[in-house]
Amino acid sequence: MDFEFSPEEQAFAREVEAFLDEHATPDVADVLRENMAQIVDTPERRAFMKKLADRGWLGMTWPKEYGGQEREGVYEYILNEALARRGAPQIGKGVGIIGKTLIRHGSDKLKEEFLPKIMNAEVEFAVGYSEPNAGSDAANMQLRAERVDGGFLLNGQKTWTTSAHFADWYWVGARTDTTKKHDGISLFLIPMDHEGLEVRGLPTIGDELTNEVFFNDVFVPEDYLVGELGAGFRYISEALDLERFTMFTYSPTEQRLEEVIEYVKEAECDGEPLRADPHLRQKVAQLATHAEVARVLGLRFVHAARKVDAKPPTVEASQYKLFATTLSQRVGNAMVDVAGPGGQLRVRTEGAPLRGRGDMSYRYSVIDTIGGGASEIQKNIIARRGLGLPRNF
Ligand SMILES: Cc1cc2nc3c(=O)[nH]c(=O)nc-3n(C[C@H](O)[C@H](O)[C@H](O)COP(=O)(O)OP(=O)(O)OC[C@H]3O[C@@H](n4cnc5c(N)ncnc54)[C@H](O)[C@@H]3O)c2cc1C
Repeated sequence: MDFEFSPEEQAFAREVEAFLDEHATPDVADVLRENMAQIVDTPERRAFMKKLADRGWLGMTWPKEYGGQEREGVYEYILNEALARRGAPQIGKGVGIIGKTLIRHGSDKLKEEFLPKIMNAEVEFAVGYSEPNAGSDAANMQLRAERVDGGFLLNGQKTWTTSAHFADWYWVGARTDTTKKHDGISLFLIPMDHEGLEVRGLPTIGDELTNEVFFNDVFVPEDYLVGELGAGFRYISEALDLERFTMFTYSPTEQRLEEVIEYVKEAECDGEPLRADPHLRQKVAQLATHAEVARVLGLRFVHAARKVDAKPPTVEASQYKLFATTLSQRVGNAMVDVAGPGGQLRVRTEGAPLRGRGDMSYRYSVIDTIGGGASEIQKNIIARRGLGLPRNF
């Protein structure tokens, strides 16, 4: 298998690095904040996304008739890995989930209203699928959308809606038919400041905020139903397949590991260099090997995904996510270990080993093993679709 990027792709990667050298200032790109992908929650981060837009890097893969360049998804992969490595906000929800779904299934009105804004970085979205009883089993969502004159009335609750506290629009799955499971779900677009929507912050173990959102008689006009009634779950699944290039980045783990290795090379404990400790040498050598496995699993999946007309590389994506996210946790553990008692100090504490990243990474890295499909769900996919084993009972 040839995992090399083409000369054009390599040139693009260099162009992105040069752009980041110029624009990735500490107020927008900060590895100490860890990688909460797609968070564009300050005016500075919004301005940074606008610069990406001005370069034509939002919607690169979209059809030309919607202002895109019809580039391969691998360009978005290269861009997002570079952004994530520097702790900068990444492209994702707007360009990927919402943009690509509207292009395929949205009405002319919704396309005209949203696609130019997405391309110009003028709108931020929150995505509302999960509910208290609908996470891994997303098709169990119960938020009710009842048909009324001119539209729908929404009542119920979402949870874990990241970005709801600063987003402009809400992309929401709701139940329009209680007699069907998957086919009873429809997708809607709702302004985040709509009357009857209440957003309550949910702090996470990784220091970033996500949210619960409550719906009290939220009226959504007919025009803001996305595509066909009852087709929402199909669109949600399809978007996952379209979005795999940008869903999960490996580069932050690699960057953290590099920092650990540098620390082991240079730091001392009780007057002895850490690099002389055989246990630590074993540990970092093992992690460096696993990091190479994760990198190649990622490339293998990119390679499978870029084949024209190939079916979505679902098993490859699950293997990559499962391995890379658990590796990220192991790197977090190693940071705490090598830092010794100082590994308990908070990030940015003066004098803390590894800039206090041990504690932060240890806590944060659990999140990626849950969001976007928990590790157990990835294992189920590998067992069922990859190995032909029966569905679990
Ligand atoms: C920080 C964060 C941000 C998030 N942001 C968003 C967002 O913006 N929008 C959104 O819609 N959602 C979001 N989510 C929700 C996320 O998608 C869900 O948390 C995830 O799908 C798991 O669902 P759950 O939390 O309900 O856990 P559950 O589905 O209840 O799972 C609990 C445990 O049981 C295991 N399990 C479940 N089913 C099976 C099975 N069939 N076989 C074996 N094990 C199983 C799971 O792996 C897990 O360990 C976010 C979550 C987090 C933590």
